[in-house]
Amino acid sequence: MLRRHPWVFSGAIARTEGDGADGVAEVVDARGRPLARGAYSPDSQIVARLWTFDGRAPGGELFRERFAAARSLRREILPPETTGYRAVNSEGDLCPGVLLDVYGETAVLELLTGGTERWRGELESAAREVFAPGELIVRETGTERDQGTKRPSPQPSPAGRGGSYAKEVPFLENGLRFLADVSSGQKTGFFLDQRDNRARLRALARGRRVLNLFSYSGAFSVAALAGGATRAVDVDSSASALALAREHRRANVLSGDDSDFVQADVFEDLRRRVGEGQRWDGVVCDPPAFAKKKSDVDRAARGYKDVNRLAMSLVSPGGWLLTCSCSGLVDAALFQKIVFAASAEAGASFALTARQGAGADHPVSLDCPEGEYLKGLWMRRAR
Ligand code: SAH
Repeated sequence: MLRRHPWVFSGAIARTEGDGADGVAEVVDARGRPLARGAYSPDSQIVARLWTFDGRAPGGELFRERFAAARSLRREILPPETTGYRAVNSEGDLCPGVLLDVYGETAVLELLTGGTERWRGELESAAREVFAPGELIVRETGTERDQGTKRPSPQPSPAGRGGSYAKEVPFLENGLRFLADVSSGQKTGFFLDQRDNRARLRALARGRRVLNLFSYSGAFSVAALAGGATRAVDVDSSASALALAREHRRANVLSGDDSDFVQADVFEDLRRRVGEGQRWDGVVCDPPAFAKKKSDVDRAARGYKDVNRLAMSLVSPGGWLLTCSCSGLVDAALFQKIVFAASAEAGASFALTARQGAGADHPVSLDCPEGEYLKGLWMRRAR
């Protein structure tokens, strides 16, 4: 606490008082002196996420101030022709438990903890005031996370009046047209955190054939084709994600026929391609988080090693591989070790040229390094 780490674990608490009905936790030391205030989530392992260390009370005024600071950072760092971005990034913007993603005229507010769910009214008002979206959609995923259930996300609800809202919301990323599926999509409808990696792929894609594994709505392929790739193939297990991927090609007037959208399990698809001796001069591997809790880490490490070994076998000499992990529990050092082990098993020699994670609209607080979850390794095959 004295180091301002914003998380209070249940095991660190000696005694609690009151019912916390307003969602506010006040943390005091052994002598009763106030230390910090934050959002109270009694059912979570992280019982409080701290917002202030100076006695200020969480509420409308603080929320507006924090959101305005987040907005001013975005104004400095967003690339041109980009109307889709993360506007508020939880701990990284001193708003633990709150995400706000903006897609053009639509904003999606996600409340990640039981505590912030109880502040919904004031958080919504602050978001409207500071970001003035045409439409604000709210997703509450906190209670679900706290209880550790695997239920699908609750249906998001448009905030306030008027029940209906567009399912697919258009926005721009570096001048490319995308749609965020805000009603049932993954995350808040798009993987905004990969913007910088897409831009890097676009810059080196000319003349290359690109295989996009775990493609979701095919955004890496759109970037590659916009950069002059001759072909890009999306592989994902989700039919609705691939339907969006087709729409993305059309919206950007880029090529794509039926064989460019493959609905399959990536592991099986890779084994087939390796068996056929296929070669690609660009491969992107961006799987979902394989480790969601500590006990998953060993199994996740094996998954990352398998998928990388197979993906590496497909890369032609002189070809590029971007491999990613968004499991916070697999840190950068461990991920790099796993990938290096995979290259040894694949008998392939790669040079690591860059490490790149989420963009600057996903700031990480130095007080809460856990906020840095996305790792991307750029590697070029030597032989
Ligand atoms: N690279 C994407 C985001 C990937 S999210 C982007 O930049 O937009 C992970 C994706 O993997 C999801 O779309 C999910 O449907 C898919 N997925 C998860 N497990 C899979 C599997 N075993 N085989 C194929 N796709 C899988």
